[in-house]
Amino acid sequence: MALFDKPANVLHDILVKKEISAQELTADVLGRLDAVEGDVQAYITTTREQAEEQAKAADEKIARGEKISFLTGIPGAIKDNICTKGVKTTCASKIIDNFVPPYDATVMTKLNVQTPVILGKTNLDEFAMGGSTENSAFHPTHNPWALDHVPGGSSGGSAAAVAAGSAIWALGSDTGGSIRQPASFCGVVGLKPTYGRVSRYGLVAYASSDQIGPLTRDVTDAANILNIIAGRDEMDSTSSAAEVPDFTQALRADVKGMKIGLPKEYFTKGMDPEVEQAVKAAIKQLENLGAEVVEISLPHTEYAISTYYIIAPAEAATNLERYDGVSYGERIDGEDLVQMMTNTRTQLFGDEVKRRIMIGNYALSAGYYDAYYLKALKVRTLVQQDYLEAFKKVDVIMAPTAPTPAYKIGEMIDDPLQMYLQDVCTVPLNLAGLPGLSLPCSMSSKGMPIGLQIIGQPLDEATVLRAAYTYEQSQEYHKQMPQLGGKN
Ligand code: GLN
Repeated sequence: MALFDKPANVLHDILVKKEISAQELTADVLGRLDAVEGDVQAYITTTREQAEEQAKAADEKIARGEKISFLTGIPGAIKDNICTKGVKTTCASKIIDNFVPPYDATVMTKLNVQTPVILGKTNLDEFAMGGSTENSAFHPTHNPWALDHVPGGSSGGSAAAVAAGSAIWALGSDTGGSIRQPASFCGVVGLKPTYGRVSRYGLVAYASSDQIGPLTRDVTDAANILNIIAGRDEMDSTSSAAEVPDFTQALRADVKGMKIGLPKEYFTKGMDPEVEQAVKAAIKQLENLGAEVVEISLPHTEYAISTYYIIAPAEAATNLERYDGVSYGERIDGEDLVQMMTNTRTQLFGDEVKRRIMIGNYALSAGYYDAYYLKALKVRTLVQQDYLEAFKKVDVIMAPTAPTPAYKIGEMIDDPLQMYLQDVCTVPLNLAGLPGLSLPCSMSSKGMPIGLQIIGQPLDEATVLRAAYTYEQSQEYHKQMPQLGGKN
């Protein structure tokens, strides 16, 4: 029996019943990793020895008769912008390619209590800037459904690993769609929690609005992992003190009376008709199951991309100032201080990172601050108010996650603007700080996954999970695995 193709909740039950050991499970997933990693290239670093030790520790816990937690002994992967004590954390950048954190991110501390098995650190667009994982300084990651296609990004390594079976679950980060869009492209579930729900301590910042969340095989796993990582953290003053409910209570197939908002602005020109049809069919399905669909309007949606691409680069320019060859990261020498810093930053940052630092500094500079940055902050408030207004009438909002399925590697990399426009369905809710989840709802005629996006009210991940779970129970898309050249 293969194990790598099962969700964590199924594997957890098998472990509890002692039908398999954590070491057998880990060997199975590592075997899968060995078979597919050459093609998929989801990882930057693998931590095989550590994984085997962790599996052994999990088995010892089970043998002692201790009550085991949801992730005990279950192999997963961590996006390489989340600090892992003693394990290299590169952000897919040459500027910190030798950084070994002396501490764990809070999410890792919380996970480690469970004795999970960590297989390694996954690939991303450098500093999480991008939507295809092609901006990694090391190598691109390939979509397991079609190896010449991108896996999405920036958490493309995490999404591809879960889709390929070279990890059972993964963590990613989402500032403008980086969990949801790769989940959509790879046919897995991706959950971006409300801003503040999960501590950002130890997440290497792209922007200050990043948020960590799970990428999983199904909605049940997403709810369970959110339970583990959510909550107020003294180390992150932006984390929310709001009570964290037990999200597994939301896993009920019941949407009777739930009001679903269908925003007309999200079904824009340029949207792939197959995506539109698939998403509308999924919403219809929920209507058949008892939900009520209400047309809504989010009038400022058209400004969301321009607003995001001012605010996020401004935050990035500020956050990445520290990589100056002195305070943090690698150095390339020069004849004086200025030359050293110039060499370091121009040679060790990739093009997209440099582009954003320049845009950000321009938007923040004295003469332009009011015209760009301040204006963008004002528009962000308008985008947020649109949602709050809509949520007076509906419980959740549904839309496509991305306007198209995954595209080919190389197709957009030379056209950054085109790439930015791909974020049209995901960035608005980051601007508003809302929770959002993507789950597979169809396959395109070319055999690529399509994602349905469910957007919730602030701190109401529970209703999002309930809607997602109800839909998931009514179909089978989440059970499909890519063929990967007959390696299944
Ligand atoms: N595609 C978006 C960008 O390039 C999302 C990035 C993210 O969420 N980290 O900014």
